[in-house]
Amino acid sequence: MESGGAFAGLHLKPSYHHHQLLRPPRTAAINLLPSSSSTDKRHLSPLPLKLQKQSHFASYSCNCSINDGSAFQVASPSSATPELADIDWDNLGFGIIPTDYMYVMKCYLDENFSKGALQRFGNIELNPSAGILNYGQGLFEGLKAYKRHDGNILLFRPEENALRMKMGAERICMPSPSVEQFVEAVKATVLANERWIPPPGKGSLYIRPLLMGSGSVLGVAPAPEYTFLIYVSPVGNYFKEGMAPINLVIETEMHRATPGGTGGVKTIGNYAAVLKAQSAAKAKGYSDVLYLDSVNKRYLEEVSSCNVFIVKGNLITTPATKGTILPGITRKSIIDVARSQGFQVEERHVSVDELLDADEVFCTGTAVVVSPVGSITHLGRRVTYGSDGVGRVSKQLYSALTSLQMGLATDNMGWTVELK
Ligand SMILES: *Cc1c(COP(=O)(O)O)cnc(C)c1O
Repeated sequence: MESGGAFAGLHLKPSYHHHQLLRPPRTAAINLLPSSSSTDKRHLSPLPLKLQKQSHFASYSCNCSINDGSAFQVASPSSATPELADIDWDNLGFGIIPTDYMYVMKCYLDENFSKGALQRFGNIELNPSAGILNYGQGLFEGLKAYKRHDGNILLFRPEENALRMKMGAERICMPSPSVEQFVEAVKATVLANERWIPPPGKGSLYIRPLLMGSGSVLGVAPAPEYTFLIYVSPVGNYFKEGMAPINLVIETEMHRATPGGTGGVKTIGNYAAVLKAQSAAKAKGYSDVLYLDSVNKRYLEEVSSCNVFIVKGNLITTPATKGTILPGITRKSIIDVARSQGFQVEERHVSVDELLDADEVFCTGTAVVVSPVGSITHLGRRVTYGSDGVGRVSKQLYSALTSLQMGLATDNMGWTVELK
């Protein structure tokens, strides 16, 4: 699941098992709305954004514009709370559940993005010679929106995702939306899909922005046209009945990233590269793989899509992000939260020896927030952490950060963005 993205590295509780992840629950609302099918040719032009059979929905103006530049109307609740989508909110996993709208914005190489619009969620059409299909010119992002008890919707540091997408776009020669365009597009997409945001405590709306070379290109070169797209899907909380520790295996043959490569950006190609080691690890019963640096082969890098931290006494250490490690927003936030709670935090080389000698180990990423590590296996030697695998520090940091993200604690950091 974020078998692209921050969902990875994760040990899925039985209820999230694989077959379920690939299929929406039986009750998924695929059929609640006339969704555009794979053959629907209308998807590239904006549709009248009006939800049907929803009399309680009224129109309101959104800050976005349609491709002809005129302001458009998007269906939105007339009251504070729209009717919730009819799905089983108590059994949300991490499978993709189609929602009502997606956001699409395009531009040509050497130009700037403008005039994005919401359209019905559905398949997109690409030329077979699109840059993303042939040469992997693509990036993704991942963030979440939480519904608060007062009806407010909270985003967590969305401008950080925007900045990270800009950095990644620069690395693989793509134009990117401005931070403001990115954040406004995220807001518009979340509001248009408000009825898919899980009720407080049931999960969150996972937001997946994509940036891709959609134009046609035959020789290796940047594509002539780019598409920025955002889709969303409701997801459950990873830890429903307390935190479940994951079991990692250190990969000693394959590497996730190399110096000078693209490990530090969220480009799609990084994820195909981890599938083989990850699948092998899962087949042996591990939750995921912990990668080592490709030069010395003894310093920790990260998990397939999570960052890693080790705890020893009052000291928390995590590998420094120097190009081969994805600079996680959860990682960065956990560092600040830990410091504010009196921990000493260091970003530097972390050796396997140090890892195996730690009091606690945990991973961070948007999907899990903080995922405690119960065991690490290195060259056949298995080291376990804590009595039940869930260390005090992991628990404390998870609780501090999720309280902030869900709006249960006062946000003294200024990280949350309120939507309404
Ligand atoms: C997305 C991702 C992370 C976590 O980043 P967050 O911003 O915390 O979600 C860590 N490692 C990799 C490889 C990732 O793709």
